Amino acid sequence: MTDVRDVIVIGGGPAGYTAALYTARANLNPLVIEGFNWGGQLMITSDVENYPGYADGVLGPMMMQDFRHQAERFGAEFVTDDVTRVDLSERPYRVYVGDDEFRAHSVIVATGAHARQLGLESEQRLQGRGVSYCATCDASFFRDKVVVVVGGGDSAMEEATFIARFASRVYIVHRREGFRASPIMVERARASEKIDLVLNKVVVEVVGDDKVTAVRLRDTITGEESELEADGFFVAIGHDPNTALFLDWLEHEPGSGYLVTRAHSTETNLPGVFAAGDVQDHVYRQAVTAAGSGCMAALDAERYLAAFRDRERVAAATGS
Ligand code: NAP
Repeated sequence: MTDVRDVIVIGGGPAGYTAALYTARANLNPLVIEGFNWGGQLMITSDVENYPGYADGVLGPMMMQDFRHQAERFGAEFVTDDVTRVDLSERPYRVYVGDDEFRAHSVIVATGAHARQLGLESEQRLQGRGVSYCATCDASFFRDKVVVVVGGGDSAMEEATFIARFASRVYIVHRREGFRASPIMVERARASEKIDLVLNKVVVEVVGDDKVTAVRLRDTITGEESELEADGFFVAIGHDPNTALFLDWLEHEPGSGYLVTRAHSTETNLPGVFAAGDVQDHVYRQAVTAAGSGCMAALDAERYLAAFRDRERVAAATGS
């Protein structure tokens, strides 16, 4: 039987590493099960210019290495593999990586979310080279350039409107005529002189050798193919939280699967289980907000463990 740790952090992105840093500095000896592909969404980002403190910007993967290194410096331990199962039916909670079992009095879930991808080989190849999933992060790189945004929801409208502050032209490519986006958001996009709506088209290829030069479209009605020259390609077709492992145990939003936390806290429905970062946030979704929420989860875990130890001491003293 393995030792029971104070805290296990599941996830190796800004939220997970920040939770690890804070719990390590609080002498809670965190074990971070960071995932085989640790680093999260920042690993498919090139320049990050909106994280405070990096005045000259930083590459996403480099920033995640810095985060990890800082937590490690204070004693966080890492398992570089994916959690395959959790058992949160009783305390101590159990977390499994294959046949290996880890137990802890508290668990911080920071498994993040992932932007939906179209699934094109060319989309993957050109990630960080003109293909982006985050307008807030990358729009300013396309000043006076032409950008294609794919999607017909609020995200696509919002991202296109934001990108239009920088780009010379923005095309919103949507696969049908009706929009999932709210009418007001569609109207805002339509009202921009820089934005054109390209309807009934699907993207079949992102064109370019080492950077995006065009997007190849297919008309959903006629089947005809055409090419739209572009310097940037933003995929805005939604996000999914990485919550499959937790749905049987933790309260989540029906449909979307985002974990539910108590207001102004990272507490889930289970005592000692906290959720931080994009796994519980579909609104802000920034590295800095995820890191802030990782800090909150660490402080919440610290307080929970202190109260837990107090109860243990009282029980030992009174023999109850
Ligand atoms: P969403 O509402 O699920 O919309 C996704 C869009 O992408 C849909 O138009 C969908 O087309 C399209 N799509 C999905 N898969 C596709 C594919 N493989 N190829 C081409 N198109 C594809 O996602 P979202 O826009 O990210 O919004 C998520 C939630 O956040 C919503 O509740 C939204 O209201 C909210 N949100 C609100 C704001 C705001 O109020 N400021 C901003 C952003 C998001 P179909 O319509 O044909 O299915």
